[in-house]
Amino acid sequence: MIPFHDLTVVHAELADEIEAATERVLRSGRYILGAEVEAFEDEFARYHGMRHAIGVASGTDALHLALKAAGIGPGDEVVTVAWTAVATVNAIEQTGAKPVFVDVCPQTCTIDVAAAASAITPRTKAIVPVHLYGQPADLTRLRDLADRYHLFLLEDCAQAAGARWEGRRVGTWGNAAAFSFYPTKNLGACGDGGAVLTNDDRLAARLRRLRHHGQGNRYHHLERGFNSRLDELQAAILRVKLPHLDAHNRQRQRLAGCYRRHLRGVELPPSPPATPGEHVYHLYVIRHPQRQLIHQRLAQRRIETLIHYPVPVHRQPAFADLGYAEGSLPITERLAREVLSLPLYPGLKPSVVARVARAISLCVEAPVPC
Ligand SMILES: *Cc1c(COP(=O)(O)O)cnc(C)c1O
Repeated sequence: MIPFHDLTVVHAELADEIEAATERVLRSGRYILGAEVEAFEDEFARYHGMRHAIGVASGTDALHLALKAAGIGPGDEVVTVAWTAVATVNAIEQTGAKPVFVDVCPQTCTIDVAAAASAITPRTKAIVPVHLYGQPADLTRLRDLADRYHLFLLEDCAQAAGARWEGRRVGTWGNAAAFSFYPTKNLGACGDGGAVLTNDDRLAARLRRLRHHGQGNRYHHLERGFNSRLDELQAAILRVKLPHLDAHNRQRQRLAGCYRRHLRGVELPPSPPATPGEHVYHLYVIRHPQRQLIHQRLAQRRIETLIHYPVPVHRQPAFADLGYAEGSLPITERLAREVLSLPLYPGLKPSVVARVARAISLCVEAPVPC
C-alpha cells in the first residue's frame, strides 16, 4: 500500500523535540495565549521579515479575521477564485461580503490577473489570490492591480508556506496574508491553527482584539469579536517545526523532480524556470483527460491518489445561489475534470515516487483498457 500522506515520518524524525515542547507546555499550566504563542508569532514574523504575525484558530479564521479587520463586510465584493479549497470562499462569506469568482491560468492553476482586473466594480474592496498546491500566484501583477484600485490584497498562503515569488516569500506581498497549520499543510501542527501576517500596525492590533472577543484590556471589550486563538500546545509544536520548513520544502522539490524525470504522457505542474514562482509542492498535481481511469487503475495497485478538487466551488450545491452556470469558468471546470494529486510528503522515498510514476506511465500508454 502506498498512502497519499504519512505524517508519522516527520513526527518520528522530530519526536524528541516535539515531546519536550509539549511537556514544557503541560507543566507550565498556561494553555491559551501565553509565552509559546508569543514566541511563535515572533519567529514566524521574523522568518518572513514581517512586523506582525497573529496566531488564530485556523486558516479559515485567518482569512475571515484579516478581511474583517480591514473593514470588509456586507455590500462589499471580494474577487477570488472558485479553484480553491472551499474554506477561502466560506471565510469571505463569513464577513458578509460577496465573493466574485474569476478563472485561473491553466499552467499555474492560480488567479488570472487580467480576469481579476475585469471583475473589479465600484463595490470591490479586496482581492484574495490563492497560492494553490504550493504554486505562487503572479504577485507582481496582483500588487500593481491592488495599488491601482486601492484594494486590500489578502494572500491565501494555506498551501504555500515558504514558497517564493521573484525570490521574495509569499505572504510578504499582500496587505495581509493568511496561513493554515492544518496537520497536512507544509507547516502543520497536531491540530487546527492559523496565522495572519501583516506590516500594518493598526490591522495587527485589531486582529489581536478580534481573535479574543474584541477585548482591549482585560474584560473591556472595544468591539464584538470571536473566539479564535492559537493554543499553546500547537504553538510549541509549530516552533519545533518552523526551523525545518525550508528543508522539508526542498525535500518536496526533490521528490517533484523525481516525478518529473519519471513521468510520461501526462501534463506536469510548472517548475522553475518556467515561472518566477518557486513551487513548494504542497500537492503534486498532474493533469490528464483520462484522470478517472488513472485514479482507479492506481487504486487497484494500492496506490492512493486524491482529486483536488472534483467539483469547483462555484459548482458546489452549497453555492448554487451565487448563480454561476456550468461553463462560466471554463479553465476551472476543465481542471476539475483532469487533475490528479500524487503521493508526495517529506520522508517519502524516491524509489516509491519512481514506482508511482512507472505505474502511471504504463497506464497512459495504453489508455483504453486502463
Ligand atoms: C486548508 C486551506 C484553508 C483553510 O485552512 P484551515 O486551517 O483548514 O481552516 C484555506 N485555504 C486553502 C487554499 C486551504 O488549502
